[in-house]
Amino acid sequence: MNSPSLLGGIEAGGTKFVCAIGKPPDQIYAVERFPTTSPDETLGRVIDFFRSQPQVPESIGIATFGPADLHLDSDTYGYITTTPKQGWSYTDLVGPIRQHLNMPVAFDTDVNGAAMGEYLWGAGHGCKNLLYLTVGTGFGGGALVNGHPIHGLVHPEMGHLLLPRADGDDFEGNCPFHGACLEGMASGAAIKARWGISAESLPADHVGWSYEAHYLAHALMNFILILSPQRIIMGGGVMEQRHLFPSIRSRVQSLLNGYVRADEILHGIDHYIVPPSLGSEAGVLGAMALAMTL
Ligand code: ZN
Repeated sequence: MNSPSLLGGIEAGGTKFVCAIGKPPDQIYAVERFPTTSPDETLGRVIDFFRSQPQVPESIGIATFGPADLHLDSDTYGYITTTPKQGWSYTDLVGPIRQHLNMPVAFDTDVNGAAMGEYLWGAGHGCKNLLYLTVGTGFGGGALVNGHPIHGLVHPEMGHLLLPRADGDDFEGNCPFHGACLEGMASGAAIKARWGISAESLPADHVGWSYEAHYLAHALMNFILILSPQRIIMGGGVMEQRHLFPSIRSRVQSLLNGYVRADEILHGIDHYIVPPSLGSEAGVLGAMALAMTL
């Protein structure tokens, strides 16, 4: 997975799509972003982008919002499935791209793509067992085991863990399925619903951040015990509040209470729970990283 192939990437997001072509991570020849409108119009712009390039990539990776069907033998492989996003339920992403551009297409979730990108070129470099979490409007998680993204029955939905409540927190939670699950208590949307202001406006000394660290640290403890990741990368808008990192790290150590005997956790946790490093093009680089798996 080290050859500098010419690759295409499509970051398929609920609000915007990003397309890129190049030899990642350093040689990106063209990038285009546009808002997510109807499936036909949006996929048309994706196809136009690649057709207008002077070179043809060897393969294309799609990193999509979900839920998505990742099963190669399924009739709806390559589809976004039950999304509440208007007009996008059961939309075929892979089919039109493959048909119009006639090249191999890799398809995975945006968080699995991000995990692959950070593993190959970023903050998770060399960690074959890696966990990537994003705490933004929602909460998402992608994980690599032995260098491959986990799929499974559908794909992991790490945002909906049930966790013990923080002392004094009486917020009912805003997940439409579970109320007070992790996403319902600790996503950017939950912060806004609970306090009436966005995470970026919440002062650093606000009690809300101690609740936030509580839920995220409990989630991390569970992820560490189940997946045993070699590193955990935490990105997304909420994690831009960098004061959360030391608070989460020390809580994770306290919760584990010395049980997991790994130097990375006991003595090196500052390098174990870290922010991403691929920056503003991380999403589309993740898609290109998926293309490298073909
Ligand atoms: Zn939920």
